[in-house]
Amino acid sequence: MTSGHHFYRHHNGDVSVFPNEDMFSQHLLDYLQFVQNSSSHYNELIQRTGLKVQNDPITVFDYLPYTSKEVYRSVLTEEAFATVGGAPFVTDFSSGSVAKSVVRICRSSDDLCEQEITESTFSRVGVGSSDCFVCIDVGAAGIYDFYFRAARNLGVARAIFLHLTAEVAESVRPLHALQPTVLLTLPSLLIRMWPHLRGLWKPGACPIRVLFMMGEHIDTSFRTVVESVLGCKIFSFYGTTEIGGLAGECKYQNGHHFNPHFVLPSIKSPTYTASESIEGEVLFTTLHEHTHSVIKYEVGDMVRISLAPCKCGEPSPRLWFLQRTTEAFILAGEKFSYSMFFAALSDKVPDIKIMSLEILENGARGNAVTLSFYFPIALSPYENVFYDVLKNEIFGLDSLYRYGFVDFKISFKPVTNFGGRKIKRLIDHRSEAAA
Ligand SMILES: [Zn+2]
Repeated sequence: MTSGHHFYRHHNGDVSVFPNEDMFSQHLLDYLQFVQNSSSHYNELIQRTGLKVQNDPITVFDYLPYTSKEVYRSVLTEEAFATVGGAPFVTDFSSGSVAKSVVRICRSSDDLCEQEITESTFSRVGVGSSDCFVCIDVGAAGIYDFYFRAARNLGVARAIFLHLTAEVAESVRPLHALQPTVLLTLPSLLIRMWPHLRGLWKPGACPIRVLFMMGEHIDTSFRTVVESVLGCKIFSFYGTTEIGGLAGECKYQNGHHFNPHFVLPSIKSPTYTASESIEGEVLFTTLHEHTHSVIKYEVGDMVRISLAPCKCGEPSPRLWFLQRTTEAFILAGEKFSYSMFFAALSDKVPDIKIMSLEILENGARGNAVTLSFYFPIALSPYENVFYDVLKNEIFGLDSLYRYGFVDFKISFKPVTNFGGRKIKRLIDHRSEAAA
């Protein structure tokens, strides 16, 4: 037990991160009573446990089932709209990386709680009054008002939105005059801007010291290149549409710090990687949301959580994103994942920044499937290297290829054809594939 938190083991083997204080039980009680009054869906689930929230909130929480994306989209979104009544609210839509969009409804109280998380993410890496804060996106300008408010509360005087259009070079150029010290964008957009951004300043003259990456995971080798060319540090800001921003890295860039009083994570039957560290599929309970709140929500991410103290001294637990659950798939009974292919191919061709993988049924070869890979045109000289890795160098896949269970197709296309705000990394077209 360290850092003021502990792992709580549920009756079914799942594990949650609970704060140690006695106050936490009261906090959970207040939350569950609120949810019971505002959501007939959750009220029914609580009734079904046969337990009373006021007697033992922790055991009630223990026996509550998971919340699926489908329930979120249909039941909870409708309930959230009903809760809002005539009050003002804002919405947050998912973009790009998922097949079916989700929307989160937030009233001002929810927005202020999320703003507090965002402020702590910014202040953790020293954002303050001497900074010029610039956000770059292809659209969604409205959400940046939220980030501006968080930055201004920390004393930032200049906060600017820069619209990235199809004319990438033109849209990036104003950065030179704006002289941002803090830049916030998405990894997919940074990849698109990189050829123009990297030469914008003379070596050693780039004013950017902090580069926030949100919305997606950023590849480690690309991160290292950007940091060394611009002379800045990249900090990842972890969050999802349904939960909001919830965790950010500190100056040691080793895990995202989060506050379980706001967002409480649980992990389905985790693996213990060390006494204070667990891994598995995460479920989130949004104790801080009062309109579109969720209990044990299956957000679709595999994570690692550690209670071990961080070198920065902040006592909060840390979270590492590992991969999307939908990025793991089965081929002829063997388990594979997008990240495993990306790692094997990057090992031979370190310059891969973008890769899309589509899994297709292949009628011509009976049970076989085709793994269709897409890379940017610049990587076309490596076509044979990619085929060689796929056919011979991935354990388990080589025999599937030899026995005709799997086939490969490699194609190249312009970087701009990889999708909008976020890149679709894996699409499984097989009819039996899970949604
Ligand atoms: Zn830290």
